[in-house]
Amino acid sequence: MKKTEQLYEGKAKKVFNTEDPNLLIVSYKDDATAFNGQKKGTINQKGIINNQMSNFLMQIIEKDGVPTHFVEEINERETVVKRVEIIPLEVIVRNISAGSFAKRYGVDEGIVFEQPTVEFSYKNDDLGDPLMSPLHAIALKLLTQDEMDKITDYALRVNKILKEFWVQRGITLVDFKIEFGKTVDGTVILADEISPDTCRLWDTETGEKLDKDRFRRDLGGVEDAYFEVMRRLRENDK
Ligand code: UDP
Repeated sequence: MKKTEQLYEGKAKKVFNTEDPNLLIVSYKDDATAFNGQKKGTINQKGIINNQMSNFLMQIIEKDGVPTHFVEEINERETVVKRVEIIPLEVIVRNISAGSFAKRYGVDEGIVFEQPTVEFSYKNDDLGDPLMSPLHAIALKLLTQDEMDKITDYALRVNKILKEFWVQRGITLVDFKIEFGKTVDGTVILADEISPDTCRLWDTETGEKLDKDRFRRDLGGVEDAYFEVMRRLRENDK
């Protein structure tokens, strides 16, 4: 599969058309941004790690019954994916309080929930990705009620799969963000990426942060954390 013209360049990825109208090629960059693009930087080799990690996890998820956009990894930074129209919602699942949740409700980070939460943000940079209720998303025709039910169900299934996967590798899945898209025939599938850019991953023993919070909060050791997560991902099940 060959790239043709560039379709889009985002903060962390470029997307290209291919000769097949139903397939795109995603190319992962080392660029990192936070706080709606206000903080910018580079995380050396991040594009390689995020590409490989996302593809690995998408394949596990697909095997467990949630359809994804993954088609084929073509090199260390590039992957063929199904063309979708992205549903403009960030779907956030949380197992433990952190980040904007802790801030919004004035609680500590690290409160372990008895059951996971699901919330939605409207993907709109100009508005700063505001929190959005499911009924507001449906009122704005971003998706239908059936599609909302489906992505909520998929998000919780993805949480179960990933939580279990990381537990076996000494990592606690705190929270994550995923995105869904619709294929040409209207099927809802998991799209975008799953990586330390989009998940909070804490070392189960030490509590050390092994994700993008190291970049957001200037904690140092950003590259080392991404490499460590990749190393654990490749570990055989304990
Ligand atoms: N997240 C993301 N992209 C965003 C916002 C959040 O990937 O634009 C991820 C983030 O890495 C974390 C989870 O979603 O794993 C929950 O993030 P939160 O709402 O706490 O926001 P933050 O504190 O990152 O602003």
